[in-house]
Amino acid sequence: MAIDLGTVNTVIHVRDQGIVLNEPSVIALELVDGVRRVKVVGNEAKLMMGKTPGNVQAIRPLRDGVIADIDVAEQMIKHFIDKALGGASRMRRHEVVICVPSGSTIVERRALRDSATNAGAARVQMIEEPMAAAIGAGLPVTEPRGAMVVDIGGGTTEVAVLSLRGIAHSSSARVGGDRLDDAISAYVRRKHNLMIGEMTAERVKCTIGAATPPGDDATEMVVKGRDLVKGRPAEIRLTEAEVAGALAEPVGQIVAAVRTALEQTAPELSADIIEEGITVTGGGALLRRIDTAISAATGLSVRIADEPLACVAKGAGAALEERHYDGILTGA
Ligand code: ADP
Ligand code: MG
Repeated sequence: MAIDLGTVNTVIHVRDQGIVLNEPSVIALELVDGVRRVKVVGNEAKLMMGKTPGNVQAIRPLRDGVIADIDVAEQMIKHFIDKALGGASRMRRHEVVICVPSGSTIVERRALRDSATNAGAARVQMIEEPMAAAIGAGLPVTEPRGAMVVDIGGGTTEVAVLSLRGIAHSSSARVGGDRLDDAISAYVRRKHNLMIGEMTAERVKCTIGAATPPGDDATEMVVKGRDLVKGRPAEIRLTEAEVAGALAEPVGQIVAAVRTALEQTAPELSADIIEEGITVTGGGALLRRIDTAISAATGLSVRIADEPLACVAKGAGAALEERHYDGILTGA
């Protein structure tokens, strides 16, 4: 079993079954007689965000890329594993590989390992996220050929150069899908005096968001929120061009992260990347024209991976199952 515990989504891949779970990394806790109890996790918990009554809290324990509350994260992992297997009793047979950000500390890795062990895993191994993303995207990571992967997640953008089963260079920038959502909320508040919720901002991004200004086929949508002046529910129309403008700054930061990584890459590997181009994974890869934006800034060809949201889990699963990838997983 391979677990991609992302800041926004958790994806689980099981041998012979493929992706068995893909749900938001959200957990809803209920306070009963002074004790916090898990109410729901995943899809159901996300629906509660911003709408919970006083005694219920819907939280994203991994929000900023680090585990803020290890107890809560552990409960979430346990629930997801149970759900993926359809019953905790079957866990015993499973070897687990967990994807970890390449910048994560030993303490964080240990915490993740303990969580999986407490959830009943037989053996727990780790894989660095960019490596998993690259394998899942079909890049030749075992060959002496540099390949660049850019994983745009919710909290961070990870840029890495892989060669010969290892990570030759990696860097992480604290900009990703969450920042794009924030930029949309801030714009709508400033320009239209409308307060919108986190989920609404995300929906705008996924529906009409784009990394560069639109051409003739621009779209628009109606957005609802609370009017800041009148203090009551209201709706406005947002255009794709406006949203692209609002996203320009964080998109610029994502692109800058890629450029910086290219500047720090050894010349022989750079030569390979010129030939192979850049591959983009993670949910941010689905932002319209993100490939155009990266390509324009680097002069390199850019490819969006197939099923970008599933690459990390699929790649980690392959690293666990296929002999071809022996030596890539680590113990801690
Ligand atoms: P993580 O690994 O941090 O959990 P993911 O790779 O799962 O992150 O990506 C989640 C991010 O991708 C979220 O910010 C989500 O809003 C964004 N996303 C998903 N679909 C789209 C889309 N169609 N357009 C733009 N962003 C998207
Ligand atoms: Mg991810």
